[in-house]
Amino acid sequence: MSGPTEQAASRKTVITNVGLMLSGDITRPILEADTVVIEAGRITAVGREADCDLAMTGVRIDARGTTLAPGLIDSHVHPVFGDWTPRQNQLGWIESTLNGGVTTMISAGEVHLPGRPKDIVGLKALAITAQRCFTNFRPAGVKVLAGAPIIETGMVEADFAELAAAGVSLLGEIGLGSVKAGAEAGQMVVWARKHGIQSTIHTGGPSIPGSGLIDKDVVLEADADIIGHINGGHTSLPYGQVCELCERSRRGLEIVHNGNERIGILTAIHARELKCAERVILGTDGPAGSGVQPLGILRMIALLSSMADIPAEEVICYATGNTARMRQLDSGMIAVGRAADLVFLDRAEASAGKDLLESIHLGDIPGVGMVLVDGVIRCQRSRNTPPATQVPAVLA
Ligand SMILES: [Zn+2]
Repeated sequence: MSGPTEQAASRKTVITNVGLMLSGDITRPILEADTVVIEAGRITAVGREADCDLAMTGVRIDARGTTLAPGLIDSHVHPVFGDWTPRQNQLGWIESTLNGGVTTMISAGEVHLPGRPKDIVGLKALAITAQRCFTNFRPAGVKVLAGAPIIETGMVEADFAELAAAGVSLLGEIGLGSVKAGAEAGQMVVWARKHGIQSTIHTGGPSIPGSGLIDKDVVLEADADIIGHINGGHTSLPYGQVCELCERSRRGLEIVHNGNERIGILTAIHARELKCAERVILGTDGPAGSGVQPLGILRMIALLSSMADIPAEEVICYATGNTARMRQLDSGMIAVGRAADLVFLDRAEASAGKDLLESIHLGDIPGVGMVLVDGVIRCQRSRNTPPATQVPAVLA
């Protein structure tokens, strides 16, 4: 493997010879393009090589016919600080996940912090601290959007205004704290939304001792922006309730790895029947009791494509453009103006699938050949995926 592992984000980078360009946009998942131009960390051109300005290029990446997709977004993680998780006492889990093609992680609450404060001043302080820490430090280059307070009974609108003014833009999973009633949660969601803070709600049975059941009536009354782990985390609501959530809510339908796989598959099928697949987003809900899953998002993609019989290029949108749209991110799509967060994929060696999309549809996870964040190469051949048949090359 030649070339730098990191280059100045301000330099122009050109990617050529892309065999398959996946946009992340569910309305048009495959682009007729083989070239991407990146300047100052953003995509400035996508098209055919002959139509792109390749002059003054600093770094050239020959994709060697592999697939280029937007970097994957994990809509549901529980980070603490740095690249350490006390849940499984593991170092380097975020770097490991980068090797699974993930370039952005969204915190659903820093709930695993030992001794996590639950008083209102303390929970606000923790959220602001986590937001600051992950803004100042990206483990392995991964964008971790954190500082997601677990709301507690007694919070008033001024608390949400204070959090928003301090830079907090997310709520942790509603239901992990003392706010478990629909009306109370709904009022806080309204306050949060008024101040520009996104919300997500725990759906289903208790996750770990101390959490509780959130059923469909509470989810509908709370009306959070994202129906967090609609397939449970781990314990799912009955399928009839999940269907009702898909049908009666217009919010995001988040399917997670650490959930009920059967209900996850059925949810994806039902969302397509309802013609609202653009609402489906993917997360891991890791680290969790079942461990750290560096390939969790890739595994979700292969699971849903194969078991729900959904074209792989569509399922990849669930983990990229759909999440970016619902979460208002500037990544998640291969389009001019977007952050150059990108992953090179190819069919895993020896997969029965003849190409990348068929291999995923047959249930195999792909191999990751390279990952860029803001146009900077953060890893080359993944240390965690099965080997990609072909990997891109960095030309000096
Ligand atoms: Zn949860």
